[in-house]
Amino acid sequence: MPNCPRCRQAVDSQAIACPYCRTPLKAHGHPGIPLYRAEGETYLCETCTYHEDDTCNYPQRPYAKECTLYHDRFQPVVSLQRRSSGWQTVQRNQGLLAVIGLLAVSLVIAFANRS
Ligand code: SF4
Ligand SMILES: [Zn+2]
Repeated sequence: MPNCPRCRQAVDSQAIACPYCRTPLKAHGHPGIPLYRAEGETYLCETCTYHEDDTCNYPQRPYAKECTLYHDRFQPVVSLQRRSSGWQTVQRNQGLLAVIGLLAVSLVIAFANRS
């Protein structure tokens, strides 16, 4: 089995992303994965987050002209998952909202019984 270029874990050769660190492993034939290219005389690594924080262990570093893992260090790191909308947050917290609602109701009943 090949190793992930980023975290060095053994990963399935057919995997499109490392199951341990989520690094995209293939650029060709997988249209969802962008292959970043350097413009002109620059190298991608010069502006890459993983070069700056020294976590990249790709062999082409620091002279990568093409890279799937590149991340612009001036951009915030966002997870691969789509960020949830407000409504999804409400849906996810439905259980919590139900508990809060029950608590409120029982407090009202407790106060009503005291008076
Ligand atoms: S551009 Fe690619 S090779 Fe260069 S530091 Fe970033 S991840 Fe590593
Ligand atoms: Zn990995």
